Amino acid sequence: MWRSGSIPVVKVAGITVEVHLTFFIVAALGAWQGWRFLGGVKGALYGILGIVILFGAVLAHEIGHGLQARWQKLMPGRIILLPVGGLAYLGARPVNAWQELIIALSGPLANLAIALILAGGMYVIAPGGLLAFRPSELAFLPGSTLFISYSLWVNAALFFFNMLPVFPMDGGTIIRAALASPTGYLRATQLVAWLGWLSAAGFIMYTVLWRHLFSQAVMLMWLALSAIVLLGSWQEAQAVYQRRRLLEITVGEQCRKPAVTFAPWEMVTLEHTRELLRRGQAIPVVSQTGQIVGLVPFQAVRRRPDDRSPVTIAHIMTTTFPALRPDETLWAALREIERSSFETLPVVSGNTFIGVISIDDIKQAMRGPQRRR
Ligand SMILES: [Zn+2]
Repeated sequence: MWRSGSIPVVKVAGITVEVHLTFFIVAALGAWQGWRFLGGVKGALYGILGIVILFGAVLAHEIGHGLQARWQKLMPGRIILLPVGGLAYLGARPVNAWQELIIALSGPLANLAIALILAGGMYVIAPGGLLAFRPSELAFLPGSTLFISYSLWVNAALFFFNMLPVFPMDGGTIIRAALASPTGYLRATQLVAWLGWLSAAGFIMYTVLWRHLFSQAVMLMWLALSAIVLLGSWQEAQAVYQRRRLLEITVGEQCRKPAVTFAPWEMVTLEHTRELLRRGQAIPVVSQTGQIVGLVPFQAVRRRPDDRSPVTIAHIMTTTFPALRPDETLWAALREIERSSFETLPVVSGNTFIGVISIDDIKQAMRGPQRRR
């Protein structure tokens, strides 16, 4: 139940929502702040409620992304709520710029929709509260309409923050997708990354030069935001360069002869086979005529009671696996490996087995300029 520090709490439209354990630390901090500034148990409850509303807004944002991905026939995997925001894991990458655009747009739009509905509600029940509310007064004005205006403010802030036209915000992804068709994906990414670097650098200079205008907390927040934009822009640009490299190299150029192959009739012990395999690897099974007839993946030789008794390879190999062609790009190979349950796939030309390629081989090609053989 406890996957990498997160607890699954609810399932929305097939998407598992998990809350990271650090949430409880933040909630405790909120309670402590409430206790200190508002006083007593009631204050602590206000503090916790404030944090829960913030998480609710982040959750709505991520569900916006997740539902849109679902409508686009991309299975969203899971959503993890962290104190700094949410992470929506998609089961597959968007196939085109249009898909990427509307998935990116759906998160901020969910927050905008909630903010507009709450603004409508406020206008009906307390028209004055809509304009009177200031976030800085939040701690001193607990009241019945306070949490509505607080939610309104939180959702509006999330909308504007995520629509900033820089990476890693959704706004950056949206601008990139919009520019992708006139300029190409790589050029569009470079443009948005440059915009991020320039605006972050400008923002850092502005904050430092005019530091007397800001409180220390605000200044730290601006600097942290600038750092996030600098890093996000660098990562996106890097990812696109790597993708271009993968499009330029073929499977045939990067694949290698495996250290070991099996024949289908060979007798082995599971214990011995396991010694040859690391997690994620697979040993190809090749017939006398040089055709690939099976794969022995790590999953097939997991610890069993009768590890020392010999078995025939044909009994433990799997015969359903995808194979790659030497003329395919490494980019296509990476996607095929991500779709399959194996981290190593055989390369086949016509009917003949040529070699194997693993996710590590592809990562190596991504990093270094040197090509193997
Ligand atoms: Zn988002």
